[in-house]
Amino acid sequence: MRKKIVAGNWKMNKNSEQTEILLNELIAQIPASCDAKVIVAPTFVNLASAVNHLKNTPIGVSAQNMHQAASGAYTGEISADMLKNIGVNTVILGHSERRAIFHETDALIANKVETALQNDMNVIFCFGEELKDRQSQNHFNIVENQLRDGLFHIQKKDWEKIVLAYEPVWAIGTGETASPEQAQEMHEFIRETVRKSFGSDVAEDVSILYGGSVKPDNAKEIFSKSDVDGGLIGGAALNAKDFIAIVTAF
Ligand code: PEP
Repeated sequence: MRKKIVAGNWKMNKNSEQTEILLNELIAQIPASCDAKVIVAPTFVNLASAVNHLKNTPIGVSAQNMHQAASGAYTGEISADMLKNIGVNTVILGHSERRAIFHETDALIANKVETALQNDMNVIFCFGEELKDRQSQNHFNIVENQLRDGLFHIQKKDWEKIVLAYEPVWAIGTGETASPEQAQEMHEFIRETVRKSFGSDVAEDVSILYGGSVKPDNAKEIFSKSDVDGGLIGGAALNAKDFIAIVTAF
């Protein structure tokens, strides 16, 4: 069953005290009956406390990244087992900042996806074109290649662990949002691409989130599109009032 999801990617923001304050605000303000599954992704050092804090609440916790190896000499990295061990069962992979700043390739992301699935983790798989790709009308090709090279090695049964997050790079943190029509057009294309390789049941069931400058004032229109199943939220996830307004936009 396709789920509605709103996930907040906190990136490298909020120390421990600030994390606790924001979590408390979210717990206090989240509507009792909420159509969407709500997930937050604080930094690694605050994940364990977030899991404890959010126990017995409807809010889930995700990591923002992880390493593909099981363990070993990878200074500064975090494994799937470490995340699972503190109760984190979801990980964001392939975020455009990981691709651009940390040079993560489709092949590396494919490895990380494999490791996450081997560890029975849920994956929020991010992908999306850059401005130059859209300007040269190459955006559909880029998106299809990112899906094929980073994700489509998985088996049909694995799709129940996958959430897709289409995030046009030109709209991330820029205040520039894809129009609801642009989002719908690409989400429909993504669903068709999944359908061609994995069948209608998978395509209809997979949640496809939109990410890129989603704010309280544009969320409702974007979420109203038939192939948009929610959002991956950056900047607006750092403020409880804005994030809850986006959650309630459903
Ligand atoms: C993101 O980084 O995933 C994102 C969507 O950021 P923002 O909402 O700030 O554009």
